[in-house]
Amino acid sequence: MVDSFEDLEEEINSCTACQLHDSAIHKVIMKGGQNPKVLFIGEAPGKKEDASGIPFCGRAGKILDGMIEDMDLQQSDWAVINTVKCRPPNNRRPRKEELAACRAFFEQQIEMLEPDVIILLGNTAEEAFLGNRQLQWGECRDIDGKNVVKFYHPAALIYTKSRQPEQQEFIEKNSALW
Ligand code: SF4
Repeated sequence: MVDSFEDLEEEINSCTACQLHDSAIHKVIMKGGQNPKVLFIGEAPGKKEDASGIPFCGRAGKILDGMIEDMDLQQSDWAVINTVKCRPPNNRRPRKEELAACRAFFEQQIEMLEPDVIILLGNTAEEAFLGNRQLQWGECRDIDGKNVVKFYHPAALIYTKSRQPEQQEFIEKNSALW
């Protein structure tokens, strides 16, 4: 366990523990405040994120920005990380062994960020955080004193636009969760 975000970043940047390292341009570590109320957990970096090193900076990022605005969160109120820090080739889902290889970083980030609320963006985030699939979309569970809520991943909302108003309505009606 490292003591600072800088040390953690250094460890991640020098990591070669799984094959995703071979094709990644940048490690994509986190975006947002270091003491967030709400932590969003996504799946993995995409092409733009890999090129820039910044999580959620492409089309899905714009949708996440809209969600953050709808949730009425200020800049320091939120942070976003992914289950793995390197882009899987062709944006495929991270494999079990890759999730396992990156787990220590994932867990350290959550421990250091200490959010009150965790929003799991899709199934991979849920599997990485809970170990398996347990939640329906919109379901909230108290886990170790944190509200853990499952949302659709912003990238899924790009392809299934009909879900966007559904998630927006959920956010409007459930602001007490965050
Ligand atoms: S995905 Fe995680 S474990 Fe794999 S090389 Fe990148 S930082 Fe290391």
